[in-house]
Amino acid sequence: MSASKSRKYNVVVGGGLAGLSLLYRLHRSGFENLLLIEKDALVSGESGKSAGIVLHDEEGLRSLAIYRELDVEVKDYGPFSYVNPYEFAIKIYYGLRSDGVQFELFEEVVDLEAFEGHVMRVITGRSSYPVEKLFVAANLGIPSILERLGKPLPDRYYRIQEIIFRSPEPIEPVAIADENFFVRTEGTHRLIVLGRPEVVNEAREGLTRAEPEFVDRVVEFLIGMGFEDIGLEKSLIGYEAAYPCNRRDGSNVYIFACFDGMGSTYAPARAWRMEI
Ligand SMILES: Cc1cc2nc3c(=O)[nH]c(=O)nc-3n(C[C@H](O)[C@H](O)[C@H](O)COP(=O)(O)OP(=O)(O)OC[C@H]3O[C@@H](n4cnc5c(N)ncnc54)[C@H](O)[C@@H]3O)c2cc1C
Repeated sequence: MSASKSRKYNVVVGGGLAGLSLLYRLHRSGFENLLLIEKDALVSGESGKSAGIVLHDEEGLRSLAIYRELDVEVKDYGPFSYVNPYEFAIKIYYGLRSDGVQFELFEEVVDLEAFEGHVMRVITGRSSYPVEKLFVAANLGIPSILERLGKPLPDRYYRIQEIIFRSPEPIEPVAIADENFFVRTEGTHRLIVLGRPEVVNEAREGLTRAEPEFVDRVVEFLIGMGFEDIGLEKSLIGYEAAYPCNRRDGSNVYIFACFDGMGSTYAPARAWRMEI
């Protein structure tokens, strides 16, 4: 869709858990002319892989209240809960679209028109949009967008490995939290394993990415559970809670990143405490 010449948009780039949470918050805070731009489908990035576990820490509980407010089903598994990221996306999409929020999907932000860090237009493959405020929630797409503003992403952030196991045989449904991992099945053949915060902190101490030993420990754990012929798929995610869910980067540019690898848990709550 072409943008009108005079209307300025409050643009959110990225339709994952972060972008959608932020869009919801902006809408609830009375922002008008909201536009979400996503280069693919909603939650097609890392959010689509999320096991949907929401930890029961202070922020996780706040996020759960937001999920419930949106009527997203919350399933409780003792020390944590589970929400389906796709259901969240559907609720946001239909709820906000009917309130006039604009969604441009399968449209990639390829450039910005900016002056001294102040963005005037966002340029996509199909159109360009005048900008009031720009919210960048593009996860691993953030560095290249920042580069266009001449602002490199601080390199003080980490990646921890997430692991998806594919089993050749259907797996019985399972949801386990032991001292090292959260484990839960997704569908009949996929098992999602997520390091617990202690493991994450261990990685934070000095490892820039999850070490092979971490993977070995997970494999060992699964073999102990009776898994055989485990196919291993690696997926790297960022880890650095501090960078920066509420950092202001330029006069009208805001970065919203869930680099801590716990977007289901933290994105909704952090969107609400972002200073705008
Ligand atoms: C296997 C796995 C399991 C996980 N399990 C959990 C869990 O149980 N609980 C939990 O809390 N967290 C979990 N996580 C982490 C959670 O999924 C992430 O923290 C969260 O999805 C990050 O959301 P995001 O919106 O920042 O990123 P993304 O979902 O990656 O969204 C960014 C979006 O930006 C779009 N984009 C990028 N560049 C551009 C551009 N130039 N123009 C337009 N669009 C662009 C991308 O297409 C993408 O859709 C898991 C992660 C993985 C990989």
